[in-house]
This record gives sequence, structure tokens and C-alpha cells, in this order.
Amino acid sequence: MTTVVDVEDVWFGYDTELAVKNVSLRIEEGQYIGLIGPNGSGKTTLLKLMLGLLQPDRGTVQLFGEPTAKFSSAKRIGYVSQRSTDKDVAMPMTVAEVVEMGRYAHRGRRRLRSSDRRIIDDALERVDIADLAGHRIDRLSGGQRQRAFIARALASEADLLALDEPTVGVDASSREAFYGLLSELNEEGITIVLIEHDLDIITTHVDTVACINQTLHYHGESARFLESDALTEAYGKHHGILHHDHS
Ligand code: ADP
Repeated sequence: MTTVVDVEDVWFGYDTELAVKNVSLRIEEGQYIGLIGPNGSGKTTLLKLMLGLLQPDRGTVQLFGEPTAKFSSAKRIGYVSQRSTDKDVAMPMTVAEVVEMGRYAHRGRRRLRSSDRRIIDDALERVDIADLAGHRIDRLSGGQRQRAFIARALASEADLLALDEPTVGVDASSREAFYGLLSELNEEGITIVLIEHDLDIITTHVDTVACINQTLHYHGESARFLESDALTEAYGKHHGILHHDHS
């Protein structure tokens, strides 16, 4: 099995505040892993460390077998950051232009070829937004916008999708459809790492859970997560997060 991400005894702090300590975990090719933990528990920080957007103070992170500081194959990763559903971020680009960005790493300075066009069209079809290709991305609904970012990752032919709370602000039915799409992509072989606060999503869709609160409290099969003590350890006794939260 190929290891996609290998985190070894990683520590990271912002100025004086420790955000991640002593985390070790591996993500293998084809896995669908959910990162869960209370607000401010270091999930986004850990994801950024995994992708080389931050460098650890201690420990090592390898991405596709390379230290992240030297990693040079950005096209292998599709990252959808937390702000991508933020309606206040003006983005005067069409959906097609956003998805074309996925081809940059492949074509460099050359013009788009018909083969690139085909890949872009296929990506738009795959996420079911071909009809929106000419629409401005910042005028779409949150769910449609997320699909456009996934299409960008598909156009770059990414092997790893990293998603940071991708459905915040997305309505419940679009959310279900979106997670259905992610499951399909995972079944087709794409490795997925997902930050998600909804336990129902975590326990029904992902195969592996990593529960953190600075340090790792659980890393294993999602089916066993609820039986473990990790929820109480990471969230405290009165975590109250077992209920659905579609806010
Ligand atoms: P989560 O994604 O679990 O909500 P984060 O990784 O965003 O947690 O944050 C972990 C901790 O690091 C929090 O205490 C947060 O306030 C702090 N933090 C996050 N980003 C920064 C930053 N850019 N500068 C300083 N502190 C930060």
C-alpha cells in the first residue's frame, strides 16, 4: 500500500500558543479519513502541516514520500480551504475559469489544448455543474461553489483531496448530495482527508477517523470511533455533539 501522508511526531505552535503536539499518523492511498475535534483543537493546522502549507517545529511530514518542504507536485493535491464557501469573498471568475486553473500545473505557459478542454468538461460533468460553466463563481450557492472547487481538483487530476469543513453554509440536501459525490470519488480511488464537525457524516461516510485536541485521541476505523473513549477525552464530558448540527 502506498502512503500518501506520513506525519511523525509533529509539534507546531503559533508564536507562544501550542496548536498541535506529538501527532503521528499515516494516510494510505485510497483512504477516506475524517479529522474531528472541538473548535480550536488544531484540525486546520494539522491539515496545513500535512499539505506543507505550514512546517512543523518538531517532527516530520512526508507527502507522497517527499518531505513537504521539498514537495513539488502540487497538481497531485486538491485543497478546498475553509473560506471557499464564504460568500463575502469576491471572485470575479467564471466556473470554467476556476476549473481551468486545475490545468495550470500540467500545461505551464502553453495554451489550453483540446485535451485540456476535454478534461475540464469531464470534470464539470462529473460534479454535475456543466450548465454553470459560464456563471460567476461568487454568485453560486455554497453547494454549487464547492462542486466547482472539486471540479478544479479533478481537472488537475489530483490523487489527494483535502477539504476543510466543505459544507459550512450549504443546505442539508445539497450537503447529502455533496457527500455522496465524495464517496463516489473515493470509490474511484481518490484519497480524501476531510475536516468535518458533523458526527453523522463522519460515522456514515469516512472509513477512518482521527480525533484530535492538540494531540491525537483516536486514530482508527470510523465504525469503532463512537465506542471508544476518544469523544469524551477530546471534547470533555458534556460534549453534546452527538446531535445533528446542520447549521
Ligand atoms: P480547528 O481547525 O480545530 O478549529 P485551528 O487549527 O484553526 O483549529 O487552531 C488551533 C489553535 O491555533 C487555536 O487555538 C487557534 O486560535 C490557533 N491559531 C490558528 N491559526 C492561528 C494563527 N494564524 N495565528 C495564531 N494562532 C492561530
